[in-house]
Amino acid sequence: MIGADEPVSHVTHLEAAIDGTVLPHDRLQTLHEGRPLWVRYDLDAVRTAMTKEVVARRPPTMWRYEELLPVADPTRRATLGEGMTPLLRCDRLGRALGLTDLWVKDESQLPTGSFKSRGLSMAVSRANELGVSRLAIPTAGNAGGALAAYAARVGLEAYVFMPADTPIVNQYEAAYYGARAYLVDGLINDCGAVVRDGTDAMGWFDVSTLKEPYRIEGKKTMGLELAEQLGWSVPDVILYPTGGGTGLIGMWKAFGELAEIGWLVGERRPRMISCQAEGCAPISTAWAEGERFAETFADASTAASGLRVPAAVGDFMILDAVCESGGQARSCPEEDLLAWAQRGASLEGIGFAPEAGACLGVLERLVAEGAIDRDERVVVFNTGAAQKYVEVMGEGTALVQIELPVDWDALAGKP
Ligand SMILES: *Cc1c(COP(=O)(O)O)cnc(C)c1O
Repeated sequence: MIGADEPVSHVTHLEAAIDGTVLPHDRLQTLHEGRPLWVRYDLDAVRTAMTKEVVARRPPTMWRYEELLPVADPTRRATLGEGMTPLLRCDRLGRALGLTDLWVKDESQLPTGSFKSRGLSMAVSRANELGVSRLAIPTAGNAGGALAAYAARVGLEAYVFMPADTPIVNQYEAAYYGARAYLVDGLINDCGAVVRDGTDAMGWFDVSTLKEPYRIEGKKTMGLELAEQLGWSVPDVILYPTGGGTGLIGMWKAFGELAEIGWLVGERRPRMISCQAEGCAPISTAWAEGERFAETFADASTAASGLRVPAAVGDFMILDAVCESGGQARSCPEEDLLAWAQRGASLEGIGFAPEAGACLGVLERLVAEGAIDRDERVVVFNTGAAQKYVEVMGEGTALVQIELPVDWDALAGKP
């Protein structure tokens, strides 16, 4: 018999996104027909079990929404206090873009310096709950560090495979947190093939983006938090830098579930803007052509390493969310994204990652095109910390070597 203190989850089943096939959630699951799974909840039970007042009193982590999350047993959680990142009003950056109500959700402040911690905290927790002991991941950068940290937190083994030209901080952090870290001469898709091929020999569980169902549930908490921070309302527009797409898909799912349990004020939903870099733009290319599935993007190359995902298994889930929301999928010219990230950093003191720079570049264009009005409420996600991108952080910034003793007239700019 289940007593009042026994762990409960309101998950009812998993559902194949491609054809609705129902699968049980009490065992490990990966893809169905090569495509991702949704986690489904008994939302009537959630509506009764969870109140806004109780949520408001809980600690400021993503676990405050536990009734809408898949981990039943709190003792199995892999947690480093992730969640409730600040939603920062950005008037100076807003003025530069011609907007009066611009906000940045600053995910750079999460453990391991990127929002990958949300998804991997959830995936590692659920794998831990299901008895997995060895995990593996292909990564374009930040996911590997996050997996390594959360696996360490609960004493699981982690194997990380990344392209040999992954930013150096990402290479080091995975190994630093105790993962077995490997460099691969190829792109993230090649690393994904290594993980897939090694499953039999190594007996690991593959936590690649969207190949297990729970990373989306972690990323979903960005949408739950954003709504709570705006008094259970949503902004007019969200700009999100899309690689594998978990974050955008997760947020759209969050708004749907919140609406279903009756927590959202009003009927309006945000227009979801998927932002990529022109150097790797499979989703924006598909959107421009009106396609639901994306072609693999050839010769992918961009300074926004988190967006270097030439083929996404959840392409149709991203494009469905963008279309349902009345949004767009766009890309930022490669030469603009670092400049925008640096400009944002200097105007607001926020450590914008190059990926977020792509959002700012896309935002500039959408305002110029009249697709976003100047007084609409716009939220940009800064998904990672600038400090993790030491290779590109120096571009466009001016450092001056000074001679001692200091020539104060020269420093003050006097002739
Ligand atoms: C992984 C990553 C992205 C892309 O995230 P998805 O949810 O996979 O689309 C964007 N920005 C940063 C900094 C990342 O590490």
